[in-house]
Amino acid sequence: MDEMDIRELDRQYVANTYARSDVLFVRGSGAQVFDDRGKRYIDLGAGIGVNVFGIADPEWRGAVVEQLSKLQHMSNLYYTEPCVRLAEELCRRTGMRKVFFGNSGAEANECAIKTARKWAFDLCGDERRSTIITLKNSFHGRTVTTLAATGQEAFHTKFGPFTPGFVHASAQDAGEVRALADRGDCCAVMMELIQGEGGVVPLEREYVDEVVSIAREQDMLVIVDEVQTGNGRTGTLYAYEQYGFTPDIVTTAKGLGGGLPLGACMMGERVENTLTFGSHGSTFGGNPIACAGALNIIRRIDDELLEGVRRKGEYVKKALSGAKGVKGVTGMGLMTGILTEKPAGEVVRAAIARGVVPLTAHEKVRLLPPLTITDEELSEAVEILKEVIGE
Ligand SMILES: *Cc1c(COP(=O)(O)O)cnc(C)c1O
Repeated sequence: MDEMDIRELDRQYVANTYARSDVLFVRGSGAQVFDDRGKRYIDLGAGIGVNVFGIADPEWRGAVVEQLSKLQHMSNLYYTEPCVRLAEELCRRTGMRKVFFGNSGAEANECAIKTARKWAFDLCGDERRSTIITLKNSFHGRTVTTLAATGQEAFHTKFGPFTPGFVHASAQDAGEVRALADRGDCCAVMMELIQGEGGVVPLEREYVDEVVSIAREQDMLVIVDEVQTGNGRTGTLYAYEQYGFTPDIVTTAKGLGGGLPLGACMMGERVENTLTFGSHGSTFGGNPIACAGALNIIRRIDDELLEGVRRKGEYVKKALSGAKGVKGVTGMGLMTGILTEKPAGEVVRAAIARGVVPLTAHEKVRLLPPLTITDEELSEAVEILKEVIGE
């Protein structure tokens, strides 16, 4: 079957929710990926920050295949080892106390939202504190509830009625968070420390400090959405470490499974016993294969790897800042946003034609390469990107 057939079949049978690029990828290795004609590309997107160790990483694959040949699924009615080991490793590395596993970022956030509301319900005996403050320009997922949580008006049409109980505050002015918290009906504030889909916009340290102290004063929970920033992406295992505070709830997904669907909601001391028997669940959540792969990934995100992420991130920032056609570079570690004079979509199209695969985020070009991309691959890709941006 040639690639025209696949494109036509896609248009005929797959829901029209994606404006796909013309490329048909068939295989890869690490940060290199090949299309059906054998053309080689350097991958600066990693499946939207998913393939943290690149494509078909031998060690990760080994862990996955080993588990696949033993037991692929049994349901959460019984004990299975991989999800337990992964939860233990995540708690050991973060200081969180308990983990609930789902299959995606949206599900991890749904769990965080349910946990915060149940925590407030247990505290007050009713739903008077069910509201959650989220930030303008945020992104928290595509379910009806996580769309409501998402602080972008563009997501709040056509699918209503949306889940009530979300209010949106400025991501720059903590005064707006304070004003909402002062109403007395809020149980939590939920934020991405770097707004990923919103254009790779890191929150200011002072802003985050203030939001955290408002939450502490008002006895509210702090939920950090690390679906995109987590699992080594920003140069620490989780980005909150660089902001110097400990959240009550951390959600993650994307990179966690190294390419298999897996989401986690990690619960700190204040909420570790909030969810009780029957209060939440997922058929596929904690799937043994996904968790066996994730355990391999998390164990290998060590100090040396993270040091490399920070160093490579600095290199990217330096190489692109002030380059022709570049108006600004934002981000942390290997999560980079580039504001270009040309429209981002045009840059991406031209880059793909030259064998480099970046992403966009709002008006920016976004880079989320595998954390293990080599220096040579990175410099080759960045040089091509610079040419394409400056043309
Ligand atoms: C991608 C993303 C989500 C949604 O994750 P899915 O796995 O697509 O449900 C939620 N929050 C953030 C910050 C994300 O980047």
